[in-house]
Amino acid sequence: MMFNPWLVESWRLGTVLVALFVIWNFTGNWLLATLLPLTIYISWHIYQLYCLERWLNSDLKKGEMPDTNGIWGLIVQHIYSQKQLQRRHKKKFKTLLKKFNSMVSAFPDVAILLNQNKEIEWSNQAAKKLLNIEYNRDRWQYIGDLIPVVKFQQSLSKNNFHLELNYPSESHIILHLIPLGKKQFLLTASDISQQINIQRMREDFVANASHELRTPLTVIAGYLEILESSIAKELHEPVLSALSQATRMKQIIEDLLVLSRLETTQLSKYNCTIIDMSAILVNMINDIQKTVAMDNHTLSLETDSSLKILAVESEVNSVCLNIIKNAIKHTPAGTDIQIKWFANDTGQACLQVIDDGKGILTKDIPHLTERFYRVNVGRSRQVGGTGLGLAIVKHIMERHKGYLLIDSQPDIATTFTVCFPNSLNWS
Ligand code: ADP
Repeated sequence: MMFNPWLVESWRLGTVLVALFVIWNFTGNWLLATLLPLTIYISWHIYQLYCLERWLNSDLKKGEMPDTNGIWGLIVQHIYSQKQLQRRHKKKFKTLLKKFNSMVSAFPDVAILLNQNKEIEWSNQAAKKLLNIEYNRDRWQYIGDLIPVVKFQQSLSKNNFHLELNYPSESHIILHLIPLGKKQFLLTASDISQQINIQRMREDFVANASHELRTPLTVIAGYLEILESSIAKELHEPVLSALSQATRMKQIIEDLLVLSRLETTQLSKYNCTIIDMSAILVNMINDIQKTVAMDNHTLSLETDSSLKILAVESEVNSVCLNIIKNAIKHTPAGTDIQIKWFANDTGQACLQVIDDGKGILTKDIPHLTERFYRVNVGRSRQVGGTGLGLAIVKHIMERHKGYLLIDSQPDIATTFTVCFPNSLNWS
């Protein structure tokens, strides 16, 4: 039967008091009567404290337990249930950790845990396969020594980066470093060699196919031109139609070749020159007004002639021509087109082409730079569009570390803005 611990303790104290009175009664000495029972009582408690300490040290072994009745029993019970709870948590945590470890080990991407000095604390199986980093052998090694690529080693001075590397030898990997709390980092890496190879094959195929098609098409277009001038009048229309299709195909091929060149070559600062954009725009608008059927479009130009950029001239020409011609091609007669060349609030050099044509729906805007995306395919073909112009613009802007922004409020204003970096020596 279990008694209330506090009741047991009260009985003990009661016994001490009774002993005190009995001794006093028999001896008449109150000092002895007080000291003797209290000394026994306190010594017993000190002994229980000693037992408790021994019991805790022995990792709660049954034999080392202090008194299990009274308040010591209560304390023992509390400590015991806390320990049991702790053991259960530990077991649960261990199982969870085991599961987590086997999951991360089986992960196809590399995961490496680094300490604050960027030394390896832990790595998974994929790290061995892809980077030849072995946890048991390379633990506590500086990661920069194990991936000896200058670009990576320089990036390690940062605590957060995203890097594409040509490593090891023929492979391509993407690396991410992210901080985990204040003292650890997680480095992940994935092998993208296969995607890069497929992408290269696709680019090569498009480039080769376009090259192969260019010559026969030029020949066909040439013959059609000769035919048109030498056949009976009633056959003119079909021949003219065939000629316009051949011309359109030639334009698509030219645009595909431009895109393929943009994708396969890096922009070098040696190809860049200081460009007087104002002069380019003045000449371009003069040419457009002479050559393109203007349908009563009104073009106005506003430029900051002191604003120059460092860029590849042919590519800048292509950007301007594409967005100015689009504003003419894709808007009805009578549209006003404003062309502005200015420095924006952050000092970037921007070209803005604003028209008050029909505009573009918000849902179409994010897709305009995709290849062959046209809001109205029929109309685009009719006006000689290829659906590749804005893809080319976007590519060129990215190469020049700039950007393209498209904004449209249908029937009010459609704005195409391209901005170049504000420094002349960005490359
Ligand atoms: P395209 O050869 O058809 O002009 P682009 O890539 O240059 O191809 O443009 C993609 C599409 O964006 C066009 O087909 C057209 O629907 C739309 N677009 C481009 N500029 C304008 C504009 N100023 N106003 C309305 N639509 C436009």
